[in-house]
Amino acid sequence: MLVQFADGREETFDLVVGADGAWSRVRPAVSPVTPHYTGVASVETFLDEVDIRHPDLARLIGDGSVAVYGVNRALVAQRNSGGHVRVYAQFRAPMDWHANLDLADVEAVRSSLLALFDGWADPVLDLLRHGSAFVHRPLYVLPVSHTWAHTCGVTLLGDAAHLMPPLGAGANLAMWEGAELAESIATGSEDLDEVVRAFEGRMWERAARWAAITTAGLERLVSPDPAEALALFDQVQPD
Ligand SMILES: Cc1cc2nc3c(=O)[nH]c(=O)nc-3n(C[C@H](O)[C@H](O)[C@H](O)COP(=O)(O)OP(=O)(O)OC[C@H]3O[C@@H](n4cnc5c(N)ncnc54)[C@H](O)[C@@H]3O)c2cc1C
Repeated sequence: MLVQFADGREETFDLVVGADGAWSRVRPAVSPVTPHYTGVASVETFLDEVDIRHPDLARLIGDGSVAVYGVNRALVAQRNSGGHVRVYAQFRAPMDWHANLDLADVEAVRSSLLALFDGWADPVLDLLRHGSAFVHRPLYVLPVSHTWAHTCGVTLLGDAAHLMPPLGAGANLAMWEGAELAESIATGSEDLDEVVRAFEGRMWERAARWAAITTAGLERLVSPDPAEALALFDQVQPD
């Protein structure tokens, strides 16, 4: 496969793996499909040194994460390493919900989110009150069963292949696929094309299952009746 780089260089490779995320530049080589907006906006904010600076919030989040759902809205806080916490405010909204808002103005975004979540319990709103910066991440997805006609010399994995709602599957699938493809090439038959074709088949089947689960999850969690979604989690079976 011939690759043309932005600086004008060209090089030919036995296999090009598009592991370049939602807006993959490699994807058009195999598929004309582009991500579409889910109707759910997401604004991310951050807490640092949560155990020291916000012990009450640290207890609320625990060692993992906490998610609170209301009508067409959700607030999710996820503990990362080193006392860092990511907070996601998710809500159903048109793409241009921020038309009259300067997204670079931290206090304006904070006020807008606090107004959106007006009436929620104070400890939950503190996740927004103490957030240090706000990053707008509208949620986009690829179709649930995104596949393509196998093309010799190029493939996709991760979000480039199967962008889905962020409900705990995407990063795990991307890492799994990277390892699986590498192992298949290292230990598989001499025919690289055959190895890649078989890998794609396995990836498509697994990703379609998780895309269906996470798409249904987002539909039901950020919805007029999020309680209904709890039943869905009971049905999720690990591979
Ligand atoms: C808010 C949010 C929360 C999430 N939470 C979770 C979670 O808890 N658990 C989970 O499993 N998943 C989660 N996900 C999903 C997860 O982040 C993605 O599925 C995962 O990052 C996909 O990995 P990837 O390597 O395919 O793509 P990416 O992580 O997007 O990596 C692609 C890389 O390619 C690079 N790149 C792109 N274009 C080019 C180019 N032209 N040249 C060079 N480099 C390029 C990018 O800079 C990037 O480093 C979440 C996603 C979001 C948005």
